[in-house]
Amino acid sequence: MRLLLASGNPKKRAELVALLEPLGVEVLVPADVGGLPEVEEDRPDFVGNARKKAESGARAAGLWTLADDSGLEVDALDGAPGVRSARFAGAHGDDAANNRHLLERLAGVPPDARGARFVCALVLADPDGRVAAEILGEARGRILEAPRGKGGFGYDPLFLFTEPGHPETGRGFAELAPDEKARIGHRGRALRELARRLPDLTS
Ligand code: IMP
Repeated sequence: MRLLLASGNPKKRAELVALLEPLGVEVLVPADVGGLPEVEEDRPDFVGNARKKAESGARAAGLWTLADDSGLEVDALDGAPGVRSARFAGAHGDDAANNRHLLERLAGVPPDARGARFVCALVLADPDGRVAAEILGEARGRILEAPRGKGGFGYDPLFLFTEPGHPETGRGFAELAPDEKARIGHRGRALRELARRLPDLTS
């Protein structure tokens, strides 16, 4: 089976390939099909944006298509930055500026009121552009008062993983090795659920 990933992000492709190649799935990216039409990510939630990208990509390419959308939701900010995660401090998608802005917005908020979650929505569309599956992965934690660790990207340096019972519990996302983050992270969780369901969905 061939599956088009409606994202040019090489990191996302690598994660997908590792999980889906053992199932006999060949992963394509937009460049492999001559590019995809631009999609404006203007929906109020992650699933809505992922759905829009999956439907549009599938219709354009005539292939099974997977799209994702992800970000951070902070309880004390009523779920912000949410779908605006990449643009929280402005249109430029600057990670350092976004992290500074987050710390400013949470100034004076005590540790036990700094709960947050990372969310990853995956949407799979069939070759006619019909939605076949919507999957949400999440990871719960809290926002630190200062950055920690050197790994990861985006808001990882400010995110402390707090779900009980894991070897990664109590460590910052930027302190985790890639395989540790993939094990308990929102994207890894959603992708493993997709890999588990894909054979049934596409047979
Ligand atoms: P996208 O899904 O690649 O568009 O990511 C949206 C934004 O959410 C990124 O720019 C980051 O700010 C944030 N984000 C999503 N996933 C992660 C993660 O695993 N770690 C840190 N930040 C993330």
